[in-house]
Amino acid sequence: MTTTVRFAPSPTGHIHIGNSRTALFNWLYAKKSGGTFILRFDDTDTERSRAEFADAIATDLQWLGINPDRIERQSARVESYDLAAEKLKAAGLLYPCYETPEELDRRRSRARALGRPPVYDRAGLKLTNDERAAFEAEGRRPHWRFVLPNHDGDPFVTRRTEVSWEDLCRGAQSVDLASLSDPVLIREDGTYLYTLPSIVDDIDMGVSHVIRGEDHVANTGVQIAIFEALEAKAPVFGHHNLLTTRDGEGLSKRKGALSIGSLRDAGLEPMSVASLAVLTGTSHAVEPMADLEALAEAFDLASVSRSSAKFDPEEVNGLNARLVHDMPYTAVSGRLTRLGIVGGEAFWLAVRGNCGKVADAQVYWQIVTGPVEGIVGDDDQDLIAAAREALPDGDITEETWSAWTGDLKARTGRKGKALFMPLRKALTGLEHGPDMKVLLPLIGRQSVLQRLQP
Ligand code: GLU
Repeated sequence: MTTTVRFAPSPTGHIHIGNSRTALFNWLYAKKSGGTFILRFDDTDTERSRAEFADAIATDLQWLGINPDRIERQSARVESYDLAAEKLKAAGLLYPCYETPEELDRRRSRARALGRPPVYDRAGLKLTNDERAAFEAEGRRPHWRFVLPNHDGDPFVTRRTEVSWEDLCRGAQSVDLASLSDPVLIREDGTYLYTLPSIVDDIDMGVSHVIRGEDHVANTGVQIAIFEALEAKAPVFGHHNLLTTRDGEGLSKRKGALSIGSLRDAGLEPMSVASLAVLTGTSHAVEPMADLEALAEAFDLASVSRSSAKFDPEEVNGLNARLVHDMPYTAVSGRLTRLGIVGGEAFWLAVRGNCGKVADAQVYWQIVTGPVEGIVGDDDQDLIAAAREALPDGDITEETWSAWTGDLKARTGRKGKALFMPLRKALTGLEHGPDMKVLLPLIGRQSVLQRLQP
């Protein structure tokens, strides 16, 4: 079987790190098996869906390294959903209901008060043609429900009906269809809820594996029943745990929490975001992977834990720093040039270990090229004057620092921090930074002497 997966966001907001977890799980799964990845916009909710959000989602995925093989929009496929709806209606499996939301609420409250599960009683299925006509005459429009196959012929006598599947993340799963209300597939205004279009698309697009968040487990029971009603084979399902912050709070697209765009704008590397999104809540250690190929190697749906995937948003900064510390010059040269940094490989290798983000190199580029506001305390004036005197002649190389400070130690009796810190502060204006041994040749003789002027 060829693998075809899809990531199916509704373009009603920006995607966050939790959504990227789903996208990456699908992408890595497809890449591991040489399969196809479809980006499908679930945009049947025309009120809330926006083209700008769809564009932003495509951009965010591309930034993460996900290049969909195919892009689909549900809004362009309504005819296919109409055909499927007609098929279900013809089979007597889709029926009109006229209750208002308030009426349904009241019924649910009543059921709860009587200690019964608040499952829809299929009143719509009992309506005669005259009763329907009367509702229509009142100006009511129907919404349409699918009759769950949880009975033996009489839909008013339900029986326990387990729908089971072997979940790629959660193992054996089952949902009792008798515990669920018949799902509404079509709204009063004739638009489709997500359920039916998703199934029709999965069938038409040959989706073999549906990998999505565990908030969809109950939907899966319903969807398997509808796949069968449409005489199609249901795909393989995998429901992964959801990312939550340390205090257990879920992420929301609407709240803009940890959106991929904001992480990108903060100057983080896509791979630190991807590594955190994928490896959190799995049995694999959360560590920065250099590229998606390495992440695909580490990734395994069966290693996804059953409990929620708690993470600390701050972790992404630590992962980012670890990635940047090991980044080869070739991976950053273009970006450095765009930042106006033209120090080449030697500069990058000198400073990367002190960069939490690539853009931090700007601070060190400023230190190398100047001007620098050196700091010299009163107690250190003599040392700095001696340093000016003692700077070895000739080109400054990586050996200069130890020869120079060795000489100064002998001249001044200073050693360790008391010797190195005043020099660092005078030459860079900072107390921390890259190794002075490698920084010194980059600053160059003339600037070094200049910065040691009283
Ligand atoms: N649009 C749905 C969502 O964002 C897709 C769920 C699915 O993958 O089937 O939750």
